[in-house]
Amino acid sequence: MGSQQIDIVMLPFMAHGHLIPFLSLATQIHHRTGFNIAIANTPLNIQYLRSTFHQHHHPPPWIHLFELPFNSAGHGLPPNSENTENLPLDQIGKLVISSVSLKTPFHNLLLDIIKKQGKPPLCIISDVFFGWVVEVANILNTVNITFATGGAYGTLALFSFWVNLPHRKTDSEEFNLPGFPERCTFHVSQLHEFMRKADGNDSWSRFLKPQLSSSLQSFGWLTNTAEELEPLGLDSLRKYTQFPIWPIGPLLPKQLLNKSPLSSSSSTTQHAGKSPGISVEKCVEWLDMHDLGSVLYISFGSQNTVSRSQMMELAIGLEKSWKPFIWVIGPPLGFDLKAEFRSEWLPEGFEARMKESNQGLLVKNWAPQLEILSHKSTGAFLSHCGWNSTMESLSQGVKIIGWPMAAEQAFNSKMLVDEMGVSVELTRGVQSSISSEKFKEVIGIVMEKEGKGGDMKRKVEEIAHHIREAMKDEGNEKGSSIKARDDFISAIKTRKQEVFT
Ligand code: UDP
Repeated sequence: MGSQQIDIVMLPFMAHGHLIPFLSLATQIHHRTGFNIAIANTPLNIQYLRSTFHQHHHPPPWIHLFELPFNSAGHGLPPNSENTENLPLDQIGKLVISSVSLKTPFHNLLLDIIKKQGKPPLCIISDVFFGWVVEVANILNTVNITFATGGAYGTLALFSFWVNLPHRKTDSEEFNLPGFPERCTFHVSQLHEFMRKADGNDSWSRFLKPQLSSSLQSFGWLTNTAEELEPLGLDSLRKYTQFPIWPIGPLLPKQLLNKSPLSSSSSTTQHAGKSPGISVEKCVEWLDMHDLGSVLYISFGSQNTVSRSQMMELAIGLEKSWKPFIWVIGPPLGFDLKAEFRSEWLPEGFEARMKESNQGLLVKNWAPQLEILSHKSTGAFLSHCGWNSTMESLSQGVKIIGWPMAAEQAFNSKMLVDEMGVSVELTRGVQSSISSEKFKEVIGIVMEKEGKGGDMKRKVEEIAHHIREAMKDEGNEKGSSIKARDDFISAIKTRKQEVFT
């Protein structure tokens, strides 16, 4: 830490999809204010963050990375489980619950910082799961800001679900969620099995309810969305929480924001935990061979996979559709996610046929998603509707075929269909039976240039435009998300919350 003062301390949740938006937020705040920012996390995640810096993995001088001791084995997790990646869902639950054991080391880190610089940082920005940080901030005479790395609609739905457990209050399969207007009805099939079983006495509810409720005591919330993007989600979240919400997103990698959706790309993306299955150049070269908007991109994010039978049906449906595709493929459910890929998981001869006909590119493990989505040949994205993937797709005007699997993904998918009209939901969850025929039909509808596919394209381009406008930061021309970021900075400098509500 040297002699530098630390202005803000951040504590993201231990998942790729949380660490990266926190890092982007830190960069934005620093560039606006010159603040020095500390990010604290478990040793493995700090290593991940370090590896994202190009200069010999050294962060710039204004970022300070602090390792918090964490003994995963002590929480019934496999050794070295400090990140959600490669953990099955029941183990992810343990990771979420065990995160409270970071409280003492985090408190000690802050005490250390305060001792060295003689005053507390301006604020602590922590993840929505870490309600306990509010107490630490109060004791140390600073304030806690909660940063929801998801969208407003999905975050409120998840929040309201765990706090109210509304599916337990009705005999019907449909339910309303407190905070949303009557017209938004939700269905039990949108809940993952462990959510469906939640009754208030299970370990998830016992942990999440108090943590989420405590985060309502923070000074305000930052959300990774834009005012124009989610009018319903933001309005409902504001009414429900009754405190300042600053929509400062979407925090996308800079190369996406600077590009028009129709250009091709040559920049690189990296991921600390997974090795790329293909080079950016090879991917772009393959995309260059295909027509404008003709390619379907398929990826289920950094931690989800489908079952073996679902994988088979997808492959058969793709082959029957004749549509070009890039598919990021990994071992199916029940196999070690790091295992070597086996050709028996796909129809016989599938890989060879796709290669020979040039219809499909199978990418093992990890693909340069940003480059694929921003290439002019990419027309649609079959996605699990994780928030980062969703924003990356929308920002490039790429239509979505939804297949939500866990967390708040089903709520994101619902919003994409009902509120934005830019997606068709193929199915839900990893237990569902999908047929190759249904898949082929949905690809046909979405990839079509006319009819519903054409309508979806117009809407998604409008949204891409809103995203670029919201993030505009040129001289006096400031988009809504940039203004919200500046309002947030003024609020923490003066700690006058009410001015900005
Ligand atoms: N991603 C990627 N290549 C892949 C799969 C994922 O670059 O092959 C990136 C993607 O661009 C996104 C992130 O991983 O930024 C996934 O985040 P998201 O919130 O969509 O899903 P999660 O992995 O958290 O479920």
